[in-house]
Amino acid sequence: MPERTPATLWTRAMRLRCPRCGEGKLFAGWFDMHERCSTCHLKYQRAPGYFLGSTYFNYGQTTATMAAAYLILHFGYDVPKNWIVPPLATYCVLWTLFWFRYARALWLAFDCFFDPTDFESDDGTGDEYHNSMSPQD
Ligand SMILES: [Zn+2]
Repeated sequence: MPERTPATLWTRAMRLRCPRCGEGKLFAGWFDMHERCSTCHLKYQRAPGYFLGSTYFNYGQTTATMAAAYLILHFGYDVPKNWIVPPLATYCVLWTLFWFRYARALWLAFDCFFDPTDFESDDGTGDEYHNSMSPQD
């Protein structure tokens, strides 16, 4: 079984790679996700609506950094609110688009770490783990 430590899963997510094998690419384009891993055949969308959870990663990261930036700029450097809000509003839109793929990759890694049994089968049905990289299985 491949190693799935938090550091390994984090690295795989930041490289936008499959959480199970670390080899297959998650995305074919900016928003287009491959259905399965090209290496280990893991089905990425584990269930209908599966990636709804990734919005928590995207929303949480965006609001935390925006709030920190606002507090630092307004209370730390006395920048007026009307100078801060337009750039931060722009940041909220652009950053969520940029972070979309990473939020999905982090969601997959999070799920793989906290519910690893679901990742033993290719599509979460409980079937045997199929890994084309290890033919002795
Ligand atoms: Zn894979």
